[in-house]
Amino acid sequence: MTDFPAGTILGYPRIGRRRELKRAIEQHWAGAIDEAALEAVGADLRRATRTRLAELGLGRGDSAIPESFSFYDQVLDAAAAVGALPERFDDLRGADGAIGLVAYFAAARGDGRHAPLEMTKWFDTNYHYLVPEIGPETVFAASSDRFARQVAEARAEGFTTRPVVVGPVTLLALAKASDAAPDGFAPLDRLGDLLPVYARLLADLRAAGADWVQLDEPALVSESLAATPEALAAAAARAYDVLGATADRPRILVAAPYAQLTDAAWPVLAEAPVEALAVDLVRGAAPAAHPGLAGKTLVGGVVDGRNVWRGDLAGAFEALEQLRRHGAAAVSAGTSTSLQHVPHDVADETALDARLASWLAFADQKVGQVVTLAGGLAEGREAIADELDAASLALADRREAPGVRDGSVRERAAALTRDDFRRAEYEVRVAAQDAALDLPVLPTTTIGSFPQTGDIRRARGRLVRGESTVEEYEGFLRREIARVVALQEDLGLDVLVHGEPERNDMVQYFAENLDGFAVTQHGWVQSYGSRATRPSILWGDVSRPAPITVEWATYAQSLTAQRMKGMLTGPVTILAWSFVRDDQPLADTARQVALALRDEIADLERAGIAIVQVDEPALRELLPLKADAQADYLDWSVGAFRLATAGAADATQVHTHLCYSEFAVVIDAIAALDADVTSIEAARSRGEVIADIAESGFSHGVGPGVWDIHSPRVPSVEEISGLLERAVEGIPARQVWVNPDCGLKTRGYDETVAALRNLVEATDGVRQRL
Ligand code: GLN
Ligand code: ZN
Repeated sequence: MTDFPAGTILGYPRIGRRRELKRAIEQHWAGAIDEAALEAVGADLRRATRTRLAELGLGRGDSAIPESFSFYDQVLDAAAAVGALPERFDDLRGADGAIGLVAYFAAARGDGRHAPLEMTKWFDTNYHYLVPEIGPETVFAASSDRFARQVAEARAEGFTTRPVVVGPVTLLALAKASDAAPDGFAPLDRLGDLLPVYARLLADLRAAGADWVQLDEPALVSESLAATPEALAAAAARAYDVLGATADRPRILVAAPYAQLTDAAWPVLAEAPVEALAVDLVRGAAPAAHPGLAGKTLVGGVVDGRNVWRGDLAGAFEALEQLRRHGAAAVSAGTSTSLQHVPHDVADETALDARLASWLAFADQKVGQVVTLAGGLAEGREAIADELDAASLALADRREAPGVRDGSVRERAAALTRDDFRRAEYEVRVAAQDAALDLPVLPTTTIGSFPQTGDIRRARGRLVRGESTVEEYEGFLRREIARVVALQEDLGLDVLVHGEPERNDMVQYFAENLDGFAVTQHGWVQSYGSRATRPSILWGDVSRPAPITVEWATYAQSLTAQRMKGMLTGPVTILAWSFVRDDQPLADTARQVALALRDEIADLERAGIAIVQVDEPALRELLPLKADAQADYLDWSVGAFRLATAGAADATQVHTHLCYSEFAVVIDAIAALDADVTSIEAARSRGEVIADIAESGFSHGVGPGVWDIHSPRVPSVEEISGLLERAVEGIPARQVWVNPDCGLKTRGYDETVAALRNLVEATDGVRQRL
């Protein structure tokens, strides 16, 4: 077996440079291509990835190339490999219990008869994984040989690659207890039963030709999981004692991306009988020297796997040289995380400003950086001096380029005082709003978007391709808005929206209309499964050259006597779903965005819009993994929202929308936002969130969603009435709003009309019984 290579990446994008995997998977789901054809696309993509990585300088034969492909999700891949699917999928398994693609995709997305696994955020990224369900009844057994087959496939093509598998501690730490599990059961309780199956998996990988395997254990950096860092460290000690002692196994690299290893986990891994450790030096400091490192390779994650900047390559090399003093047998260069969080290649962005492009590094450029650093480790700094200097020059150019720092934006931010973050007391605002708005009890509304139909997408496509004029496109949007307004009047909703037909995406739309942002053509990153987003690049100081939404909102308002709700995306969500600059604190960037939105709200008010919603679905997403960083985060993120909204008059009703239902977790933050009305997800948790709201004593307006828009199912009048009755039992009726639990853009019109009709009818009924 070879030593660990001098440079590697922890993982590579797997959706394909042109989202080939998305297309193939969706065709397969639609029945247009069979399993064999889909497998062939997967094999082609893996071949293309290996070839590309070798071209970029990673070794073909030394395990430097990771085997990190997935048809949907790496957590589901690991769960499937060890047989850990819930019993409800048993009928979809092969005769020998094997988990093939049918069971795999059913677990990922449901199939009508089988409810899928839940999906949730992967650490503090925008990637979402599937949550394994594990109980006392779960039978762990090798159930998919996909990992070994990929190693063998690579061997046949002349590559010795390094399979990447979510490690046993993280797999259990991210799982939830199955429905069958008794109270107090934790999936981690099953570690002892799981380890022999991982040991078997390792032996199979070795037999297939793997010299090294990478086990990802990001659970060991987190302080935000159900299990304590101490419990996770103890589990890791046990797990790696067993796996280390496995006969005929590949060498093991344990990777700990996304933050610094906890104090409890570091000594455990340093002493563990494995051959290499990868640590995140972008989000964490170098770990303390440890005698246990004497026989290990330490992979320094110095190239940022989560942003798109070329960054400080000389500094990265310096950090690796420092790491050499920590007692490890060898130091290798690496990425801080898998590159699954960044797009493929800057070279594809032909429309991007060339100067901006010279500051960027997507996955392929980051691979190049790792190769450079590895060369420096092997041959000394001199050997890579040219590359380091070029990166430093680009960094200096970026610092001085026009737009990166804008004096007037900075002066305005520096002059802010506490009053800029504060509105009048809530009671004062409620009185002013009651007088101004004249809304019924239990007001009905929606979250903003109406279905994004094929017509809308085609009209946008024609504009982008230059096949229609701006006038034609805007005329189309006006007709669309008029249709949506008339529909809402017809349905009898109280507070209307314009439907957001002009927005391709709730963040990109604002990015396209603010200075300081750039958008890419091919910069897709996987969000979950076959879904990808194209984050904008926030590169400079942010300002608003002209009003953004005012024209659409006022046009919509002109069509109706009902109240029209203005619709903005909040500062934290704009940051969370963009690639943000790394040359100043996020808090400073958030304030700039907030000030631009504040001006937009002032313009909306002036144009006669009396209700404005500022969406912050990502508020919780950016919550740091480390407990001691969370207070500071909530302070500036909540502050940014308040800065955006606090300029509103007392009589202007500020709404916000949050896309999750763990209300109890963030109630303090929600209260601190001080929005007049907050709508949240609740339909899926069957109104459990209502109990949390009632218990919290939250006193502002609140709209616990009564229709789960993530599913095509239309809720009945009875069902909605039930949820509403529960709401008004727990929460004073004057606080309660009636709304779906998210925007309707992914729904069709049939369901939308039927569900909103039921929503209005249920509300009428409950109002009469109040
Ligand atoms: N206003 C947005 C919409 O309705 C909110 C979307 C979201 O919360 N993700 O589409
Ligand atoms: Zn939402």
